[in-house]
Amino acid sequence: MKYDKIVIGAGSAGAVVASRLSEDPDCSVLLLEAGPDYPNFEELPSDLKHGWGTGPDIVVGGMHDWQFTGIASTLSNDMPVPRGKVTGGTSAINGQVFLRPLPEDFERWVEWGNDRWSFEECLPFLRKIETDLDYDGDFHGQDGPILVKRHSLESLTDDQLAFYEACQFLGYPKNLDHNLPDATGVGPYPLNNPDGIRFSTALGYLSQSRHRLNLTIKPNCITRKILFDGNTATGVEVISGEEIFQVDGKEIILSAGAIATPQILMLSGIGPKESLTEFDIDMVTALPGVGQNLRDHPTVHTTWQPHSTFNKPEQKIGPQKVALRYTSQDSKYQNDMIMIMRFSHEIGDTGALMISVGVYLADSAGELSLQSKDINTQPLLNYDLLNQEYDRKRLRDGIRIADEIAKAPSFENMVVSRISPNEKVLQNNDLLDKWMLENVLTMHHISGTCKMGPSSDTMAVVNQYGSVYGTEHLRLADASILPDCPRANTNVAAMLIGERISDFIKASD
Ligand SMILES: Cc1cc2nc3c(=O)[nH]c(=O)nc-3n(C[C@H](O)[C@H](O)[C@H](O)COP(=O)(O)OP(=O)(O)OC[C@H]3O[C@@H](n4cnc5c(N)ncnc54)[C@H](O)[C@@H]3O)c2cc1C
Repeated sequence: MKYDKIVIGAGSAGAVVASRLSEDPDCSVLLLEAGPDYPNFEELPSDLKHGWGTGPDIVVGGMHDWQFTGIASTLSNDMPVPRGKVTGGTSAINGQVFLRPLPEDFERWVEWGNDRWSFEECLPFLRKIETDLDYDGDFHGQDGPILVKRHSLESLTDDQLAFYEACQFLGYPKNLDHNLPDATGVGPYPLNNPDGIRFSTALGYLSQSRHRLNLTIKPNCITRKILFDGNTATGVEVISGEEIFQVDGKEIILSAGAIATPQILMLSGIGPKESLTEFDIDMVTALPGVGQNLRDHPTVHTTWQPHSTFNKPEQKIGPQKVALRYTSQDSKYQNDMIMIMRFSHEIGDTGALMISVGVYLADSAGELSLQSKDINTQPLLNYDLLNQEYDRKRLRDGIRIADEIAKAPSFENMVVSRISPNEKVLQNNDLLDKWMLENVLTMHHISGTCKMGPSSDTMAVVNQYGSVYGTEHLRLADASILPDCPRANTNVAAMLIGERISDFIKASD
C-alpha cells in the first residue's frame, strides 16, 4: 500500500497538517507518532489534560516528555529540554500561552525572501486556528479548533495583581488583549486552557479528524529515516515494537519538531557534508543549514523573599496569567522583551516571588549536531544563549526594571528582600553578565534549525512552501522552518505553519 501523504510527528504542526490534508476523502494520510495516543478525552492522563503547573522553572518529565538536555551558555551546566512525546506533541505538555507572532516578525520573514508569509496573508490562518472566547472582530477567530481565554483581573493572585499595577505605575500601558497586532504593555496572557483543560492539537484538531477512514494514526512508531530513490522521497523506515517497517508514500511531510526534524534529515542523508561524512551516512543532498540557526528566547528568573503574611497561590507553580511585553530602551525591535510574574514554591523554605525576564527577539543563535547514527541518541543541543552583547545588555536592563517593579508601592507589604541576583551583582555589569550566563535558561521555544528562505540563501533548508532543497516530494512543517524565533511563545507559530503548509500542499496537488 502506498499512502498519498505520510506525516511524521503528531505535534503542534503535524496534527494540524494531518487533519487538514485528510479533509479530502480521496487523500490517504498516515500520521506516525513516536509517543502514545489517547483517543478518548476520558482516558487522557491528568498531566496532559490539566494545564496547571507547567512553568519554565520546572522540568516536565514523565513518559510524555523526551527529556532531552542542552547546553544553555558558555558558563552553564546542562539544562533540561522538555519536548512532548505523545499525540499533540509539545502542545500536549506546554504552558498554553497562546500568543501570535507580531506583524513585525512576519515583515522580517518577508524581507528575507518569504513573501507568502506576510501578516496579511497569514491572518486568515491565524483566525482559522482559534475560537477566542473573549474577543471577536477582524483579528480574532470564532470557529477554530483551539479555544482561547484570558483570566479576568479579579482572578489574578495577589502577586500577579501587584505586578499588573506596578507595571502601570512605572508607565507601561495596560493591555487587555496581547493578540491585537499593535498590543504592548501589561495584561492577562491569552491561554488555550479554558477551565484548566489544556487544548493541545490532539484535543483540538485530531479529535475532529480521527474518525476519518482516510486518516490512519499510528502511535508508538519511531521514524528513523526517510527513504529515497535518487533525490525523490518514496517512504519512511519506522521502528514499531521490536520490528522495523518500510512504508511507501507519494509525499512525505516531516513534522517531528525543531530537534528531531534536523536529526531525521541528517540520518536520511540531508545535512552538512562534514556531519554526514563523520557518521558515514550516504549523502542524498548536502544542505549546510540543517541544524544551524538554533534560535530561542533566553530567560532568567529573578527572585524575592515574600513577607510571612503573603497569600501564596495554591498551584505548585502558578499559571502564567499576566505578562509584560515591552520594547527595551532605544531598541531596533518592537516588543523585544517579556516579563512574567509567578510564585515558585520550589525555592527556599518560604518559596519565592519570581519575575522571569526574557529576550523575545534575541540576536544570539546556537547549533544542533548529530552525536550518533542512532535515532534514539539525542542530537547535541548547543543553545549558546546570550552570546551577543546586545542580548546581554537588554537582559541586564530588564533585570533592573524587574527590580524597580518589585520596589513599586503595590509590592510594599509583599516583598521582604531580594534573593537573586543579590544587590552587589545587580549593580555591576560584569558580575551581572556572569550571573546571567550561569543562570540563563531556554524559554522552551527552540526554532529555526531548518530555516525557510529563498534558494539564494545557502543556509536555507526549505523554500517558503516547506519543500526541502535538492529533493522531491519531501516537505518540512514545524517550528524548525521558522527563520527566527518570533516575538511570542511558539505554539501558535507552529500551528500556523501546519495550517499554511497543508494549504500550500492542497493548492499544489
Ligand atoms: C515546557 C514547555 C512549555 C511551553 N510553553 C509554551 C507556551 O505556553 N506557549 C507556546 O506558545 N509555546 C510553548 N512551548 C513551545 C511550543 O509548545 C512548541 O514550540 C511547539 O509545540 C512546537 O511544535 P512542533 O510542531 O514544532 O513540534 P512538537 O509539538 O514537539 O511535535 C513534534 C512531534 O514529533 C514527534 N516525533 C519526534 N521524533 C519522532 C520520530 N523519530 N518519529 C515519530 N515521531 C517523532 C514528537 O513525539 C512530537 O509529537 C512550550 C514548550 C515546552 C517544552
